[in-house]
Amino acid sequence: MKYLAALMFCFCTQALAGPKLYVFDCGLLNLESLELFGIAPDESSVRQMFVPCYLIEHEKGLLLWDGGLPRAVAEAEGPVSIDGGSMVYDHWIVDQLADMGLTPGDIDYMAFSHLHFDHAGAANSFLESNVLMQKTEWDAAFGEEIEFMDTSLFDGLKKADVTFIEGDHDVFGDGSVMLIYAPGHTAGHQVLLVTLANMGQILLSGDLYHTRANRSLRRVPTFNVDPAQTLVSMNKVEALLAATGATLWIEHDKALADSLEKAPHFYD
Ligand SMILES: [Zn+2]
Repeated sequence: MKYLAALMFCFCTQALAGPKLYVFDCGLLNLESLELFGIAPDESSVRQMFVPCYLIEHEKGLLLWDGGLPRAVAEAEGPVSIDGGSMVYDHWIVDQLADMGLTPGDIDYMAFSHLHFDHAGAANSFLESNVLMQKTEWDAAFGEEIEFMDTSLFDGLKKADVTFIEGDHDVFGDGSVMLIYAPGHTAGHQVLLVTLANMGQILLSGDLYHTRANRSLRRVPTFNVDPAQTLVSMNKVEALLAATGATLWIEHDKALADSLEKAPHFYD
């Protein structure tokens, strides 16, 4: 019986091999208030936002999800001022990947929750990757000037291998890494659902919610392409969380980020 249990354990661990999820520190936003995000001073004490990048290692390839703050912030000496705050970025994502022995050419797929400057900062460095792009996001980004979107950060992608998608998309074909269409914050905003063998499912929020207060109060930021569509997307994602039991990681949540181990540590 003892041997049978050992054998079963062996089969189980093999069957459970799945993706690995790496978290990278791709900057920090210091904010005087959250009013831009629709949160009054007395509704949250949060005044800092973590800026992440994530790498998903799947047996069929590597996916980089979100590109962090622009390289110029990492190269600046000291904090860089923005309206209502400042930004810092210690170590550019390309250099962090290099520390793990990876070059941009090793990254098979690149996808962005959306193309705001704090998510598309390194886009132009991954021109050899297959970029999985919501058609609506691309068309809007190059269609007209959009607040917090700097096309010079990602216009190199015009020469890259871009796969345009419309709606949800199964990245590796086995359901373990799913782009979930959740528009409203921007025209083609999306979130990412990753199924890990040991930790279960993790849903990376993009900017569907900037803070926990945005979720609990169902509050849409002031800079938002379509507030009504954002609320529909919140409903869609909340239903998905309820149905799957997935854990939501709010990407800009500094308290969450502080509790997570960064690459080269990974979650599986
Ligand atoms: Zn953001």
